[in-house]
Amino acid sequence: MLDCGTGGHALGEDLMSAGVKGWRGHILISHTHWDHIQGIPFFAPLFVPGNEWDIYGPKGLGQSLREVLAGQMDYAYFPVTLDQCGANIRYHDLVEGTFEIDDIKVSTRYLNHPALTLGYRLEADGVTVVYACDHEPYSNILADGEGEISGQDLQHARFITGADLLIHDAQYTGEEYPAKAGWGHSTLEYAVKLSKEAQVKRLALTHHDPSRDDDALDRLVASTKAKLRKNASPLEVFAAREGHALGLAHAHSKHFPGCVEGDFEAQTLVDDALTDLSVVIGIADVKTGAALFQAVQAEGIHAKFCSDADAARKLIAEDRPSLAILEHDPPSIDGLETCRAIRQQDKDPEHSMPVVIVASEQDQARGISAGVTDWLIKPFSSAYARTKVRAWALRSACKATRRLTPERQELRFGQRSLPVEPPRLRPKRAQGARRPTPPTGTENGRFSNGAISTEKAALLWMYCREVAPFETPSFRKKIGQLIAHATNTPAEM
Ligand SMILES: [Zn+2]
Ligand SMILES: [Zn+2]
Repeated sequence: MLDCGTGGHALGEDLMSAGVKGWRGHILISHTHWDHIQGIPFFAPLFVPGNEWDIYGPKGLGQSLREVLAGQMDYAYFPVTLDQCGANIRYHDLVEGTFEIDDIKVSTRYLNHPALTLGYRLEADGVTVVYACDHEPYSNILADGEGEISGQDLQHARFITGADLLIHDAQYTGEEYPAKAGWGHSTLEYAVKLSKEAQVKRLALTHHDPSRDDDALDRLVASTKAKLRKNASPLEVFAAREGHALGLAHAHSKHFPGCVEGDFEAQTLVDDALTDLSVVIGIADVKTGAALFQAVQAEGIHAKFCSDADAARKLIAEDRPSLAILEHDPPSIDGLETCRAIRQQDKDPEHSMPVVIVASEQDQARGISAGVTDWLIKPFSSAYARTKVRAWALRSACKATRRLTPERQELRFGQRSLPVEPPRLRPKRAQGARRPTPPTGTENGRFSNGAISTEKAALLWMYCREVAPFETPSFRKKIGQLIAHATNTPAEM
């Protein structure tokens, strides 16, 4: 998450100091795990009438981003609902692709985490910043910083290519990783290796392990810097910390090209394509097969199951599913050979179906030659399996939507009004004009008069008393400001 305390807030402060009436900001959320969204109910600028906010996050297959965020402010958890935030808030459900926020080009890419998670690449004025948390190496051989970068890790490296600043997950060390595999987080060594290969300039290590104290973190950073110096690497590494501000000046003479496959508008409605999704599962092991079948069904996707390679190949040829999940555990089932055979009979390699291989370990070289798209390594959690299915299903839906001609897209989507105005449709700022003018009017009527009442403020105060053991001076100050905003705006109620 480019969280409430950093990107969006800084932009808001910038506008405030420039005398622009009302705060205007954008919040990019990587995913909705609690550690990435629990600041939202306490983020005072969302409560101020007249403020304008855009919140972006990954599109799911069920609930919208707004519904998920509203869930944590449900009556059972919090006294103020999301609908009662005073600001005008627009929600943007994103898929993989690109979009624009004023003159900033934003690219998104799914990360490897047990929840659907987006990394963000921001490019403006010749400077590139990439945020990639929470993310785990696709191939565990890279966890200690050794080995060849290939497959989905290579795609991830392309996504971060040439970043002036990369803010990357580095929760564990290579030594700690074997006990944490499947938890959805990177190692410091992986973040450094990919940064070096991808010619990243500065690397901010973050998502620090809560059990590591500051001194231990400093020692890790110092030893990493020493190794980089020894290898004459120009990569600059530091540990991100609260309140750290960085200035980025355009220094690269070399231009790094775009990094996202295709140029898909990340806010495109793909719901029509989602209804056509289907998955073929070819798994010999009964327990693994049942777990995957459940994972696909939990995502609301139609699945066909078989337990041998020949049946899987036949089903795939007949059904042309959106995704194939095949086990590789010879001699009982040879997923790699099945994948190779599928690729040979594929008449449309341009839009070839993703094939995920389920195995006890990755054989990256054989996988590449057989045309494997991705791996799911056993044992896996249900959350990991669901996320893998969800990511590839959404990618297939995007491909299907992209294949529609503009005329057919109009036919399918023409009658439907977009939930929000895509930022790319807004007029672009003139060159050199750094500050956007806040939009006028209420683009989302629900929030136009949504300032919280004095009763709600009293409830909020009581709630804050309840969480007093966690109180800090800055927390107390923020809550004070929040209540002041709420109680000083009777005209808006
Ligand atoms: Zn997470
Ligand atoms: Zn996290």
